[in-house]
Amino acid sequence: MTDPYEACRLYYQTELASGIERFLEPRRDTCPWCGSASLSIRLRTTDLIQRKPGRFTLEQCGACRHIFQNPRLTPAGLDFYYRDFYDGLGQEQAEKAFAATGRSYRGRVDMIKRFTTPRVWLDVGAGYGHFCRLAREVWPGARFDGLDLSVSVEEAQRRGWIDRSYLGEFVTLVDKLAGRYDVVSMHHYLEHTREPFDELDAAAKILSTGGYLLIELPDPESLLGHLFGRWWLPWFQPQHQHMIPVRNLIQALADRGLSTVAVERGEAHQSVDLFVSLVLALTAIAPDPQLPWLPTRATRVSQIRHTVVWAAGRPLLVIAYLLDNLLGHIVRRTRGGNTYRVLARKDG
Ligand SMILES: [Zn+2]
Repeated sequence: MTDPYEACRLYYQTELASGIERFLEPRRDTCPWCGSASLSIRLRTTDLIQRKPGRFTLEQCGACRHIFQNPRLTPAGLDFYYRDFYDGLGQEQAEKAFAATGRSYRGRVDMIKRFTTPRVWLDVGAGYGHFCRLAREVWPGARFDGLDLSVSVEEAQRRGWIDRSYLGEFVTLVDKLAGRYDVVSMHHYLEHTREPFDELDAAAKILSTGGYLLIELPDPESLLGHLFGRWWLPWFQPQHQHMIPVRNLIQALADRGLSTVAVERGEAHQSVDLFVSLVLALTAIAPDPQLPWLPTRATRVSQIRHTVVWAAGRPLLVIAYLLDNLLGHIVRRTRGGNTYRVLARKDG
């Protein structure tokens, strides 16, 4: 059998040989949200998750507090850094992460339940359909469609977790979908997009009057982002292009005829910060030596080092998991969680 890592190695090493500078656009000197030129560096970091090479900077706007990747990735850069994350070599890991998110999924369902009974729902950024799988148990009579840039969404349809899959960019598929949906959801989607205003325009367009848009995003105003620094999962470089303060999102929705009916901050918190920061630290000390984008091939020494470091880290991971849950109990009573949810209704 062909080693899947070895099969990918030629692609990555060829791409890397051409240089990674081409994966970044020129730096912009104004805020993409409000146009202000008052920018400062919020964070400099690297790809702590996959350990692909490259350096990334998040800047913050002094006027509206928006945080964004600057310089941002080119489309070729996005292809390079997303490759083998949600599918290919990364599929198993990504699905494990989605499957462990049940608490958030129930939180989303509960939020919608208080306002409406969905009939036709589009989940934008549906991935493998893990959320829709749960939501359709709650509303068996509703139709669930999923849209994603990754082929994962076709797998979601094959599994029967969604009714119909749309593979591609939301903004280019929008004319096909206009006015069709009474619920549209974007869970951890908008922060990945290059032009979030275009995405919100598209969402407003495909909703029927009185329909609901549910958005869940990492909260850039969380105190945890300051505490954990570059080791905080929600910075998620280089994938996250925009980190949107909640009041900016509410205003952008209002500008599109969508009135916010509910906001959840503490309640939407995901108890992962300590556990994941420890995983990222262990990954930094001993990455999987087989990863095909690393500059050198795996050796006996690098393999032993990986095994030993992760075995030593296991008890610490258990402690981190328990502490995360304890922290979650506290944070859910505050507004300082790592995630927020906004539910908005399309006005008549
Ligand atoms: Zn701004």
